[in-house]
Amino acid sequence: MEFWREVCMLRIGLVGAAGRMGQTLAAEVTATAGCALVAACERPGHAALGQDLGTLAGLGALGLTIGDDAAAVFRAADAVLDFTAPAATVAHARLAAAAGRILVVGTTGLKPEEDAELSAAATRAVIVQAPNMSVGVNLLVALTRRVAAILGTEYDIEIVEMHHKHKVDAPSGTALALGRAAAAGRGVVLESVADRGRDGLTGARKAGAIGFAALRGGDVVGEHTVIFAAPGERVELTHKATARGIFARGAVRAALWAHGKPAGRYDLADVLGLPRE
Ligand code: NAD
Repeated sequence: MEFWREVCMLRIGLVGAAGRMGQTLAAEVTATAGCALVAACERPGHAALGQDLGTLAGLGALGLTIGDDAAAVFRAADAVLDFTAPAATVAHARLAAAAGRILVVGTTGLKPEEDAELSAAATRAVIVQAPNMSVGVNLLVALTRRVAAILGTEYDIEIVEMHHKHKVDAPSGTALALGRAAAAGRGVVLESVADRGRDGLTGARKAGAIGFAALRGGDVVGEHTVIFAAPGERVELTHKATARGIFARGAVRAALWAHGKPAGRYDLADVLGLPRE
């Protein structure tokens, strides 16, 4: 019995383990059946080096010390979860390729040349990447495309999002992804129909427009609603995030799904079996 538990268990490593997502991931991995947390690292010089990851993350001691050797994490793990920074993620992708490991990338803001490095590494590693790792948000994107295609231009599409007061950009990246999905469902490009930031004497709504509204306040983690409004009825698709654990849950699910897959680049749509945007 113990032997089979050993061989069936996916060994997971964390890079950037002391970060906000790193600690959330530690909690998620330890709470998920079928995987085990085996190694963790941080950038050299980080204050958390030498500490027990479980103690740091408020989980109680796990007997897992945070080191500064990313290569050792890739040697010890079958899959590594990476929510760090673009330059670090590129280095981790090279290590994943060299070791033939799974790399789940949540890091955002990669430049095109950094993204190309991930593609190069994916010839020898399984790389799953998603700018939003929430299962619910990825489902919402796929549903939005499908509903937009079914309802057609008689239904006016408006996308409303709300985030905490510290967010500096608007509309959110997820709102724009929803807009792209809605536009794709109608067979148009978002940039040609997007209506952002209405104010003052705007004139009547343009036919076929996809409108955006951004609300900011308090500590809202993230809420998105896609409204399809027609004379006499309205369809609304909504997702509400209340905790960052949803991103960790998606990442762990991606790692478990990736086990045994051939080298290549994948995203959450692949993991969930959803049609591509
Ligand atoms: P954070 O700053 O709290 O954590 C990042 C951690 O990575 C830090 O502890 C940092 O020291 C560590 N790090 C940097 N370089 C490293 C290296 N070379 N080796 C090891 N560790 C290294 O940030 P966060 O809020 O946890 O977010 C991290 C990234 O994840 C950001 O890019 C953020 O946008 C992204 N993110 C993505 C999703 C998603 O669903 N895809 C969700 C939340 C955050």
